[in-house]
Amino acid sequence: MELSDDVRMVKHVGPKKAQLLKKLGIETVYDLVTYYPRAYEDESTISHISELHAGERESVLGTIMNISERTVRRNMTILKVMISDGTGFVQVVWFNQRYLKKQLKTGSRIFIKGKVQYAYGGHGQLSISNISDYQILDDEESPETGIQPVYAATEKITQKYLRSIMHAVLDEMPAVPEMLPESLLQKTGMMRRRRAMSAIHFPDDYDELRQARERLAFEELYIIQCGLFLLKKESRDNKNGVRHLISSHLVDKVIKGFPYTLTRDQEKAWREIEADMERNMPMRRLLEGDVGSGKTAIAALALTKTVENGYQGALMAPTEILARQHYENFSHMLEGTGINIGFLSGHLTKKQRDEMHDNISSHRVDIVIGTHALIQDSVTFDSLGLVVTDEQHRFGVEQRAALEKKGHSSPDVLVMTATPIPRTMTLTVYGDLDISVIHELPPGRKPVRTFLRTPDRRTLIYQYVRSQIEEGRQAYVVCPLIETSEESTDIPSAEEVYAELSNGIFNGIPCGIVHGRLKLTEKEDVMRRFHDGSIKLLVATTVIEVGVNVPNASIMVIENADRFGLAQLHQLRGRVGRGPYKSFCILVSANRSDKARERLGIMEKISDGFRLAEEDLKLRGPGQFFGNMQHGLPDLKIADVIGDMDLLVKARRAAIKTMSSNEELEELMPILATQYKRQFLRITEN
Ligand code: ADP
Ligand code: MG
Repeated sequence: MELSDDVRMVKHVGPKKAQLLKKLGIETVYDLVTYYPRAYEDESTISHISELHAGERESVLGTIMNISERTVRRNMTILKVMISDGTGFVQVVWFNQRYLKKQLKTGSRIFIKGKVQYAYGGHGQLSISNISDYQILDDEESPETGIQPVYAATEKITQKYLRSIMHAVLDEMPAVPEMLPESLLQKTGMMRRRRAMSAIHFPDDYDELRQARERLAFEELYIIQCGLFLLKKESRDNKNGVRHLISSHLVDKVIKGFPYTLTRDQEKAWREIEADMERNMPMRRLLEGDVGSGKTAIAALALTKTVENGYQGALMAPTEILARQHYENFSHMLEGTGINIGFLSGHLTKKQRDEMHDNISSHRVDIVIGTHALIQDSVTFDSLGLVVTDEQHRFGVEQRAALEKKGHSSPDVLVMTATPIPRTMTLTVYGDLDISVIHELPPGRKPVRTFLRTPDRRTLIYQYVRSQIEEGRQAYVVCPLIETSEESTDIPSAEEVYAELSNGIFNGIPCGIVHGRLKLTEKEDVMRRFHDGSIKLLVATTVIEVGVNVPNASIMVIENADRFGLAQLHQLRGRVGRGPYKSFCILVSANRSDKARERLGIMEKISDGFRLAEEDLKLRGPGQFFGNMQHGLPDLKIADVIGDMDLLVKARRAAIKTMSSNEELEELMPILATQYKRQFLRITEN
């Protein structure tokens, strides 16, 4: 049997079961073997009957002394079996197990695992019920005990069935290719893959289980790290980067033109970027900073530098609105420099687009700002020196690569992200990038005071919002859904909230609504009117999450806040507190569960995006955290990026060593090419 075989090759797996297994994501032998237990049960200790404790789950091994069954009420049968192990007697009780009686004989040996309780009306006698496992044994046979795997099972694919097919597949599985280079195995003394794969399901003891888990988690992290290093190498080796040597008056002029001085973190980030750009090796750098930390200014300097050196620059944003905002912002920041800025998106007319394509290929445009329309084939640059992508997680690694490809030599790449990524995740997901971080916010920013409230306070909340508007401020109201029909819940949609507020408490105050289903021109119209202050209250969905900058807006109400992730709430909250006014964010949630309260409570306490992201990651786990971020990397089946930080560091170190050892590299390449072909080759071949 091979790992790539269909799961139907496994004993006891027929077409019907295969169908059901598919729902669990199990289609091949490999899928089955890597369907790792989510927990373990310990049945290794068999207790003496005389030493049983009420309230515990315990296992006993004894001989059946007598069997009795009776029917109570209409359909309930109670089967009682008295067993003895020489130290005492205990009654074992099953309900409604009509077929079991036939299998049991007095005098035979039986192994039982269940809950020990005082028998009902049993005058202080102990009994065992809630039986989770029993085995009828031959005279010589010993029970199958030990650490048992617990899988995520379903009604039709039971725990017992999963255990049995796991046994079947592991007994028969011959060919498990090793994934770690031989020399690494020798050096670390780590378990072999074949053994780890079986020990992770049926370990002999906890030590073996720990070793197996570590080995498999290490492998996952190591291979990802190697893939990322190769990616980095690929984009640097044998490629001529762009050397940006001249940096004189133009960059300085732009800096002088800023109505503020750069913060220390901004300066440091700029120094790092500048040094990268001056090297021959192409820059691959992530610029990470909370919303409003001033990344855009740094991007402007980098783009100016590339233009000053005779190249073109490109800035790609994830949405039309954000791209337009960048365009306007840049036109303003770079005024008087003589730099020509162009705008490109899918929403231009064909004529406008063709014209812009011309301007780009003929170098009449120095910096082009746009959406993913920039990576279309028809876009060619005269000489592309720098690519900046904003809010990277919305693009895949592949799209980034597609834009890089548009340069003759390898352009420098700067990735900006406002999603604070915990360090562990950065190492895993952005391992191919160098990192600059802006921690401090520009001076004078006040943290947004955040409050968690229940819906019975809505009237009071909105009266307060109205008083703020009457003092000259503006406000956002964010809702999770656009319209009611979206989901049949009782959650008010943006449209409903808009109708309720604009006709109710905010009667007489100009209100607007914006969401993803509006036409672009409508969206832009509303945003412009909010921007220039003619709309005072804006009801919105998460379309306003990124980039929108209205300093006069000082208050945000988020309805059904429990519907959002913490990172997302933080992004939303970043829309207020951008001006000199005291700012507020009010989270409204009817969810009274401890978990929801705890999660949203964190928003009240923590205003630092990085710490918040760590908390979010802890609470929700990496899968949820990344949600639909297209990081384009293999999923982690067993490693846990928080709990396995030490392993991650170890794996990273090993990967670095591998990169410098021809022998290990030679072993590794075919491994990457088979197991991770889909993910990595697609990227590296770009
Ligand atoms: P980001 O792109 O990181 O979200 P921006 O670059 O849009 O942040 O900056 C947010 C606001 O802060 C802008 O209005 C910008 O003019 C301002 N800003 C940027 N850097 C500074 C600074 N060093 N001092 C004061 N204000 C700044
Ligand atoms: Mg920004």
